[in-house]
Amino acid sequence: MQVLVIGGGIQGLASAVALAADGHLVQVLERETPGQRASWVAAGLLTPSSPWKYPAPLIELAQRSEALYLEFVRELQVHTGLSAEYENAGMLYPAGVGLSEAQLETATRRRLELGFAVERWDRARLDAECPGLGSDISGAGWQPHGARVRPPRLLAALRRRAEQFGVELTSRCEVAALCTRGGRVLGVQLAGGQRLHADAVVLAAGAWSGGLVADLGLQLHVRPVRGQILLLRGAPGVLRPTINDGDGYLLPRPDGRILVGSTMEDAGFDAVTTPAALRRLRELAARLLPASASMTEENNWAGLRPGTSDRLPYLGAVRELPGLVLATGHFRNGILLAPITARIVADVLAGRTPPVNLAPFAPRDVDPERALVS
Ligand SMILES: Cc1cc2nc3c(=O)[nH]c(=O)nc-3n(C[C@H](O)[C@H](O)[C@H](O)COP(=O)(O)OP(=O)(O)OC[C@H]3O[C@@H](n4cnc5c(N)ncnc54)[C@H](O)[C@@H]3O)c2cc1C
Repeated sequence: MQVLVIGGGIQGLASAVALAADGHLVQVLERETPGQRASWVAAGLLTPSSPWKYPAPLIELAQRSEALYLEFVRELQVHTGLSAEYENAGMLYPAGVGLSEAQLETATRRRLELGFAVERWDRARLDAECPGLGSDISGAGWQPHGARVRPPRLLAALRRRAEQFGVELTSRCEVAALCTRGGRVLGVQLAGGQRLHADAVVLAAGAWSGGLVADLGLQLHVRPVRGQILLLRGAPGVLRPTINDGDGYLLPRPDGRILVGSTMEDAGFDAVTTPAALRRLRELAARLLPASASMTEENNWAGLRPGTSDRLPYLGAVRELPGLVLATGHFRNGILLAPITARIVADVLAGRTPPVNLAPFAPRDVDPERALVS
């Protein structure tokens, strides 16, 4: 089958690799260069930050995808020699900075109810296991199974694997519209007017996905939610687990760098950083890990999460538009959900039964005004 994938972010690249592995002829059409947008910006946490904020089908999807991750990155490394820096270093949820003890208690109970194993540590245990935390922190929830990857490295591995499979990665190639005949999607029209034919089209255009299908009467309520991150240059070993303080987090890399993320903003398609947000992130980092105050700020960046009002992605075939497969709307969890998304896309096009019921991820009526930023 000839398949066109719109968008070279993590969903487009992971889907392209899975489709090529099934023997399809795949071309990825990317407006800029592959793997530079939200997927490059992401921190790489492989567990939903506040799982109770999501409907049950998302949690099942997340847990299944997480279970695929180790094999996903191992397979990429074996064939490409590139590591995604997968580490299962655990996650600490502190009390005393963003969350009170009572809020942490509630959060811990909710995580346990949803199947995320967490235990409570008091300050003495924290000092023994993770020294150097801020004096405001009174205790923490400890989630031993809390993995992470380094998205730019994962994207590099996916790109190389796609090339090994003969996937055509076409940069600076903007899709303007889908081409249909008799209600069936038959390919795409590029911004320059050229038409490309395909047996199937995968829509993986991240925050920009909705605009590409609106003319066809398909309402995808995907909207950009800006996130800003800053990068500190630390020394290896200063911090081992990820520290997750509600919406803010500190995520160490093996080379000692520490990511401080992230904001949640309704700012349209404006993917820029702002001094005020970066200052707040810096202050948060200092309260969580005082040693970070003397670390140099090496970089900062912003990206646009593809948010949906009900916090569920759009996945799978579209009954009303045969030939179209959706892989978009992953909001805050697109890195985590990449392996399961790729599996679903490949299963749908191969006629295999996907690993989850796709009904909740089909196009649906949602309240487009519902707030995603809280
Ligand atoms: C600050 C921040 C932190 C995050 N942290 C995490 C995290 O820790 N864990 C996690 O799981 N997720 C995280 N995310 C979310 C994650 O980044 C996204 O869910 C994921 O990257 C979405 O992948 P995507 O491929 O759909 O989108 P993108 O990476 O945005 O890719 C879409 C691509 O489509 C291209 N495109 C758009 N329109 C067209 C067109 N018309 N023609 C051709 N190409 C087009 C774009 O140029 C882009 O390259 C974070 C996001 C942000 C912003």
